[in-house]
Amino acid sequence: MHLYESNPIKIYNSLTGEKEVFKPINAGHVGMYVCGPTVYSKVHLGNVRTFMSFDMVFRYLKHLGYKVRYVRNITDAGHLENDADAGEDKITKKARLEQIEPMEVVQRYTVDFHNILNIFNFLPPSIEPTATGHIIEQIELISAIIENGFAYEVNGSVYFDVHKFNDTHTYGKLSKRKLEDLIHNTRVLDGQSDKRNPQDFALWKKAEPQHIMRWPSPWSDGFPGWHLECTAMSTKYLGEQFDIHGGGMDLKFPHHECEIAQNEAAKGKSPVNYWMHANMLELNGQRMSKSTGNTVNPDELLSGNNPFFSKAFAPGVIRFFTAQSSYRSVLDLTDDGVLASEKGFYRLMDGMGLLNSTKVSRTSTLDVAAWRLKCYAAMNDDFNTPILISHLFEAVKYLNQIKENKASITAKDLEVLKTTMHAFVYDVLGLENSAETNSGNDKLAGAVELLIKLRQEARANKDFALSDQIRDELAEVGIQLKDSKDGTTFSLS
Ligand SMILES: [Zn+2]
Repeated sequence: MHLYESNPIKIYNSLTGEKEVFKPINAGHVGMYVCGPTVYSKVHLGNVRTFMSFDMVFRYLKHLGYKVRYVRNITDAGHLENDADAGEDKITKKARLEQIEPMEVVQRYTVDFHNILNIFNFLPPSIEPTATGHIIEQIELISAIIENGFAYEVNGSVYFDVHKFNDTHTYGKLSKRKLEDLIHNTRVLDGQSDKRNPQDFALWKKAEPQHIMRWPSPWSDGFPGWHLECTAMSTKYLGEQFDIHGGGMDLKFPHHECEIAQNEAAKGKSPVNYWMHANMLELNGQRMSKSTGNTVNPDELLSGNNPFFSKAFAPGVIRFFTAQSSYRSVLDLTDDGVLASEKGFYRLMDGMGLLNSTKVSRTSTLDVAAWRLKCYAAMNDDFNTPILISHLFEAVKYLNQIKENKASITAKDLEVLKTTMHAFVYDVLGLENSAETNSGNDKLAGAVELLIKLRQEARANKDFALSDQIRDELAEVGIQLKDSKDGTTFSLS
């Protein structure tokens, strides 16, 4: 018996605008695709919030016993500077500005992305495919769309024919936009464009002579359009139809709309059963923007090196802060907000500490079984982490009452409480106990103190070669010893 059998989840489906009971295509298995980052700059905190929301979804599905194949791509080519089809590839632009190879840009920011996600205790996805690794699949997809009559070639570039597609399908069903409205709201083509209609989007672009990232294709040496890679990679790893597709709200249109159109045009099938969109992250009530200076990087939040924040915050605090809002709400990042979350986070962690020292009695004054069901009910209701956290605090309050002899718990109930708290706090929310991390530092301190003692003994024996060796080799791994008349201390560089 798996937990998922007794825990039907409801997911808010952006496609229908309703919460629906989640039924995976293959019982016990979930295929989930989330649009990953374009690796041309440091990861944006808004993206971290989106990926963190889906990390918690992934963790909960796994906790329920589903076998989840979670695919999150790396966009390392083909992202054009302007919304649709004109302009410069962001990666190429960055490479030109820094005078390095585009793949150096990709490598640098992919490593940065993984580092940041590790700091925030993300689980790695099952597959992390790259756009450049799937050019052949993208070319095959374009050929299929052309063959089915929904794309046309002009001067070596290929465009998706939105108008023709809309004659037999519905373009705009995810973002609830109508093609007529889109036509009214877009400027007419200026005669420079190869497109038949301004709403059409590029599937393949012929590369200008100076364009560095380019691949051969039946149409030209060029590069794929922005929306294509996700269709190619989700189909390859999850099939023509799969369960969940996630991403930030800002990707709903045009990116996800175009993904649906491409799939329907190529395979005749609507690719995704449940579309999930994480809402935006704001800073002090306003949209984050580098151009206005209203912005904070993940590492600035962790180091406290940002004028909007009064101090540095532990990664677990930021994770907890994120989980205190539903993924579907706009999250407003403020110093006061994170300070309040910090208090809450450590109160919760103190509660986790109490689980090991709580005395048991013959009766329980809280219905622990009912409490446990409430925790699951919160997550089953469209992954409602803020409600879950309120239940976790109910347990913390209970543990404190037991400590003050104002409440009691049986051994059996304490075991249930402990297992449930561990599952939700550590496994599902992915919060790390900072006390445990500190104990890692304690072990390091213990080891260095031992070496300091051995060095003192070496000096007492006039073995200065050994004493210097200990000092120098510690320095090489970033541990500095400092001698004074009060003894030797150390610092980490
Ligand atoms: Zn995508």
